[in-house]
Amino acid sequence: MTQTNDQLIREMVEKVLSHVQSGWGGRTAPTAGKEAPPPISSRQAASPASGRQFGQFTDVEQAVAAAKVAQRAIARRSLAQRQEAIDLIRRIITERADELGRLEYEETKIGHPPHKSEKLLTAGRLAQGVRGLSTSCFSGDHGITLDERGPWGVVGVVTPVTHSLPTLAVNAMDMIAAGNSLVCNPHPGGKKIAAHGARLFNQAIYEKLGIDNLICVIVNPTLESAGAIFKHPDVRLLVVTGGPGVVAAALASGKRAICAGPGNPPVVVDASADIDNAARCIIDGGSYDNNLLCISEKEVFVESAVFDQFMDAMSKAGAYRLTSQQLDELTRLCVETPKNGGLPHANKKFVGAEPQTLAEQIGLKIPADCRLLFGQAASNMHDLVQAEQMTPLMPIVKCDSFEQAVDFAKQAEHGFGHTAIIHSRLVDHMTYMGKEMDTTCYVKNGPSVAALGAGGEGYGNFTIACSTGEGVATPLTYTRFRRCTMVDNLRIV
Ligand code: NAD
Repeated sequence: MTQTNDQLIREMVEKVLSHVQSGWGGRTAPTAGKEAPPPISSRQAASPASGRQFGQFTDVEQAVAAAKVAQRAIARRSLAQRQEAIDLIRRIITERADELGRLEYEETKIGHPPHKSEKLLTAGRLAQGVRGLSTSCFSGDHGITLDERGPWGVVGVVTPVTHSLPTLAVNAMDMIAAGNSLVCNPHPGGKKIAAHGARLFNQAIYEKLGIDNLICVIVNPTLESAGAIFKHPDVRLLVVTGGPGVVAAALASGKRAICAGPGNPPVVVDASADIDNAARCIIDGGSYDNNLLCISEKEVFVESAVFDQFMDAMSKAGAYRLTSQQLDELTRLCVETPKNGGLPHANKKFVGAEPQTLAEQIGLKIPADCRLLFGQAASNMHDLVQAEQMTPLMPIVKCDSFEQAVDFAKQAEHGFGHTAIIHSRLVDHMTYMGKEMDTTCYVKNGPSVAALGAGGEGYGNFTIACSTGEGVATPLTYTRFRRCTMVDNLRIV
């Protein structure tokens, strides 16, 4: 050994720096910790002179090119370094939840302000990180085969206005866990908070790992920029969260598309149910963020034997009971019916409005702490029952029997396959409805959000791929199956 320690250290540092942006080539990637690439100084990273984009793009072509470079870099890093990137995003949305939630509300002006930061905190808890990846193995006389989950590359992402930054953050954490980068066309109504969040995430990741643009955002998104992402040859997977329009567009692109489409989750309350619990759960789930969640209760079908008891229980639990005439008046404001047919849909003007604001429209003043309005709808074909209204305004339908309630629920769900809820003590009723509804999520005796781990077991996500069947997303959702086979060897037992 002729080299001095100083020389050795200098060479090591040069090698490390040369691989910071380009990845680790064929060499073994360092784990996080003392061998990881050193942080770039924040002064250099934040300086405009450094030419850093931090994920801000006006042009799809440039965004995809940058995301491609970033994806190659992250794919060559260790799993520990991917986890570091995820932990940085988690830290930002957790530690700055109040500020970011306030910015999201100021821009979108929909939903219930305290729930904006709560959704970011939830997003921070939801991310599974690289532990959400799994491998499986076969071992036998002919050697071993390993099934692993690899990245797709650059993922084209579309996010909804109902939770712009929470969706982007969870999508980013899951997609990076799987080794992907992403180019997001956010909803124009939530574009500023999406771009701001992406800037914070990218800057932190760059300072720690030396990789910029893992999360690229089109800062002025349009339907054309969405179309350009959908058609781009370097975008290998599409992940869209939104209503029927974006699902249809993604599926028409000819690419593999994971679609978290609309829902209209019905609730059935049968005569055996714990009525007080049913009322509390429907208020909790149906009023959350003023009903912006796709999974939230949107209409309720109640067996006639317990109808009056149920309506009283809703009032007792704090919801405000409207007369059927008041419900119809508000429906005319909150729901629009397309002239050329098709389903009635929410009037954007009232999506996510506070119940107090809705009540004022018809000259009512309701208590400041009331979270939900409800009233009896004349029939199951009422516009408020049929529309995915996304307002804290719950239509209740009286049904002759449990079977009729399930029939009505099935019709109102429109085959979206999203979510259904039952309140019952009868296991055969639960089983019957579960089979009939055939939805991605099915909740028994709890609020809808229990299916996302909030009050129920299991993990959650803001992307529930009901339209294409992948279900509640995890990092695995964004992977490709890869098989590695060693013939006649390496079985060591
Ligand atoms: P939206 O359909 O108006 O917009 C969603 C996104 O799609 C936006 O970014 C929008 O710009 C884009 N978009 C719309 N039409 C498009 C087209 N033809 N081509 C390309 N992009 C297009 O929905 P929204 O109001 O933002 O969100 C609410 C809807 O999203 C509801 O229907 C709700 O159920 C659904 N959603 C579903 C999930 C889920 O996990 N399944 C989660 C959240 C929201």
